[in-house]
Amino acid sequence: MSTVQFKFCEHCGAEIGAGAKTCPYCGAKAGPAPKPAVPRPKSATIAVLGSIVFPGIGQGYNGETTKAVGFFLIGLICAFSILLLVGVVAYPLFWAYSVYDAYRASKRIDSGLTTRRPRA
Ligand SMILES: [Zn+2]
Repeated sequence: MSTVQFKFCEHCGAEIGAGAKTCPYCGAKAGPAPKPAVPRPKSATIAVLGSIVFPGIGQGYNGETTKAVGFFLIGLICAFSILLLVGVVAYPLFWAYSVYDAYRASKRIDSGLTTRRPRA
């Protein structure tokens, strides 16, 4: 982080460093540093476990709602196609991809937390 953060003394209103514990001007105890709004980091474990249960759950956990719905529907189609024997191959393949995607996306979201633009 290259930006220097400031907060204001609750006692005298002076601008003081965000990390200061006491105000250098009046000596009053300073409040906690203001916390920037940061999206909650995603746990790859939870995302993967969700998609192991069923495709789309991990994607939904990652906040990828549209993808989650798509994965869920494709997962359903693949699961039902097991009845037609096609899904015996298709479902495990798609299931594995879903688990992998949930893992990859949660890692990407985690590593992108510092570069991602904050939502307006
Ligand atoms: Zn002060």
